[in-house]
Amino acid sequence: MTPRGSSARPSKPRMRLLRLSRRGLRRATKVSLGAVAGAVACAVVAVGGADGAAVLASKPSLPMTMVAVAVAALVAIAVIRRVQFVTPSARAQRASFWLGAATDLADLELALSLVAGAHLLIAVTGGLDSPAYPLLYGLVAFAMTVLARPGAFATLGGALLLEAALVLRIGLDEHTLLAASIHAACIAGAAMAHALLLRGLTARYRRRRATRLDEELVALRDSARDYRLIAASLGPSSRAPRIRDEEERLLAIGGVGMIGDAASWVLATLKRSLGARTVALLWLDDDGERIKLKEVVSDADDITETPRLPTTGILGAVLRDRQPLLCAATKPGQLPYYDSKRAGMALVAVPVIETTLGGSASPAHVGSPNARLGHLRGILAADRDAPFTESDRDLLADATAQVLRVVQAEQVFRAVERAKYEHERFYQATAMLGRALTPEQVMETAFDAAAAIVEYDAGAIALYDKAKQRHKITAVRIRPGGEGLVDPAQLHELEFKDNAGLASMVVKNRHYLPAGGELREVSAPIYTRKVKLDEAKSLLILPLLCADEPIGTLTLVARAEKRFGKDIREMLAVIANQVAVSLENGFLYRKMETMATTDGLTGLTNHRTFQQRFEDLLERASRHGGKVALLLCDVDHFKKVNDNYGHPMGDEVLRRVARVLQEVPRKIDIPARYGGEEFAVLLDNVDVAQARTVAERIRIEISRVVVDTDKGPLSVTESIGVAAFPEDGRDRATLIERADLALYHAKHTGRNRVVTWQEALAAKNARGSSEVPKLKSEPTNAVVKAS
Ligand code: GH3
Ligand code: MG
Ligand code: MG
Repeated sequence: MTPRGSSARPSKPRMRLLRLSRRGLRRATKVSLGAVAGAVACAVVAVGGADGAAVLASKPSLPMTMVAVAVAALVAIAVIRRVQFVTPSARAQRASFWLGAATDLADLELALSLVAGAHLLIAVTGGLDSPAYPLLYGLVAFAMTVLARPGAFATLGGALLLEAALVLRIGLDEHTLLAASIHAACIAGAAMAHALLLRGLTARYRRRRATRLDEELVALRDSARDYRLIAASLGPSSRAPRIRDEEERLLAIGGVGMIGDAASWVLATLKRSLGARTVALLWLDDDGERIKLKEVVSDADDITETPRLPTTGILGAVLRDRQPLLCAATKPGQLPYYDSKRAGMALVAVPVIETTLGGSASPAHVGSPNARLGHLRGILAADRDAPFTESDRDLLADATAQVLRVVQAEQVFRAVERAKYEHERFYQATAMLGRALTPEQVMETAFDAAAAIVEYDAGAIALYDKAKQRHKITAVRIRPGGEGLVDPAQLHELEFKDNAGLASMVVKNRHYLPAGGELREVSAPIYTRKVKLDEAKSLLILPLLCADEPIGTLTLVARAEKRFGKDIREMLAVIANQVAVSLENGFLYRKMETMATTDGLTGLTNHRTFQQRFEDLLERASRHGGKVALLLCDVDHFKKVNDNYGHPMGDEVLRRVARVLQEVPRKIDIPARYGGEEFAVLLDNVDVAQARTVAERIRIEISRVVVDTDKGPLSVTESIGVAAFPEDGRDRATLIERADLALYHAKHTGRNRVVTWQEALAAKNARGSSEVPKLKSEPTNAVVKAS
């Protein structure tokens, strides 16, 4: 960051001394005279100065017509002057009573001239019977709404007084008094209505705007200070992340403030020790064409408020020659920082040169060729009545070194701040990735993490399958503003093989592409020829490297140019590696989760997870008045399968049975391996009758399964017990027990059957038996159906 970056600073120089300057006096006199002129115009109209100028009268008198024209001209001038009037700054108003009253006086001038003008019009269009009266009412209403109190009341008072004067001129007869009272009432009414209604409204609006402005200023100043002072002592997590541009802006404001304070302290010290009238630091503009009064300490009251000064004259010579200058008596206008053409002052001016070595032109070598090599920043100048000496000049040169040191310290400080800020973003990005568990979460977080580093518009992650040598896009993110840049539907799950595309090259080279982050450096397609990026200007494809193995790519694109600068690319490369590691962890996590929840032999939900899912379903169903059915299935005479065909073939049968359980119910139903050759199926939102139908279908499908063995084709059957929430029981244990009893009943009554708990209960009641023997103790006399 160069000190020129400090253009955020207000353009007006700091004025240490506030007095009523000559210019201020001129302004105050002008507005006061305007108000007096308005009053005079009113007086002229009041005494009937223009009455005889009636356009309709047969013989208008010349002097009175001239008065009328003069008043009309005055009105026009007053309106123009009020429109062009610029309110003096708050500081100037505080410093001088007359400048403080300037706005009121300008209002007064306008108000009185307009009233005089309106009454003039009334006078020349028929006096009390004039059709121009509504204009006067409107004028009063306008003044009451728009002008500040003095202007508003001057308008009202002026209108009423001129009305009274008109009555006195005409004579106090009945008709006159009546007409005048009606007009006076209308004027007062218009004033009151507007004063009450609109004035309150506008005042409230103005107040609200002023408060909001104040709040914003305070907040801005606070946050600039907070950021610089407090942030240093707090950890990164204690602050809400701020937009990068905003951070930069705050840094700039705070930085400029610091330079300003330190530099003005140097200038004040210099002024004291030199006994100077003015010490000024003039800073060269970015284009080098003009100079800006950056800091000034002065006893003079005519320091310029012009934001940019020309680089001509005596100071221009200092800039051109890069040499200090001593002048015993300046000519008029040679010192651009004074408004008036002061002359005959002694001047000392030294160029402010920042050497390439980072130092500054010290007094010993201000004139040396070395000093000419540096970067010209501006001029430090001092003036007084008595001539300056060479040692004064050296003192000034010393001071330029001080000023430059302040600027450089600020630069270093800002660089450190930025580095710290970048570390924070980095920390936040990596912390985010650390929290993501599943591969999907990691991919989504990768986009967020990248956004913490750089503003991009769209991103995509493609995973690379090394064995198949294929890429597949697994996640796409379109950020606000990135709409239309890429077609997410086109990218979604797009698969492409190792080709000449950029993503394939990135995977092969294990390094990001394009080297400069700009799309125009690219001739190859990104993924495939079909994927177009016509509107993008910046592009970066990063390899996702895990232990130096590429597992995919992270692509970021932006509409803006030069989004992915070198620093950003390096940071993103590290983030991409972190993404790769997190993705690998995510895959591992997914695998472990699968292992923990599914049965290894059949791939169905395991017993523990089944219990949990059952509990969840029941809880939800009881909360929302839903239904849940449970099927308990047991392969008939399975021992014999093992005995006759061997354990591995038994396993195969279990796998085939599991496949039927996966295929027959709906996707939302949950088939599980309950244990051994027993399976369970949870049917969501299904009653007993419906569950029975599903169970029947399962039973039939299983009986149709044929497993080829050495000993010929093998088929099995299954018995199924059914119980359902809420009709057969409300809790998990009861429902399992009852489905198990129904299953036992199915086994007991011939196998290869579906039995509901209600049916088992009815059968038991019919038999009159109160005790149901245990399922396992039941002798098995059926044979394995081997067709
Ligand atoms: P029933 O018709 O009464 O159910 O007769 P069954 O022979 O099926 O009897 P039971 O249910 O008591 O037998 C279960 C058998 O299933 C016992 C065990 O050897 C076998 N088994 C349990 N788990 C597995 C397994 O994972 N693989 C194989 N191959 N056999 C298993
Ligand atoms: Mg069994
Ligand atoms: Mg069995």
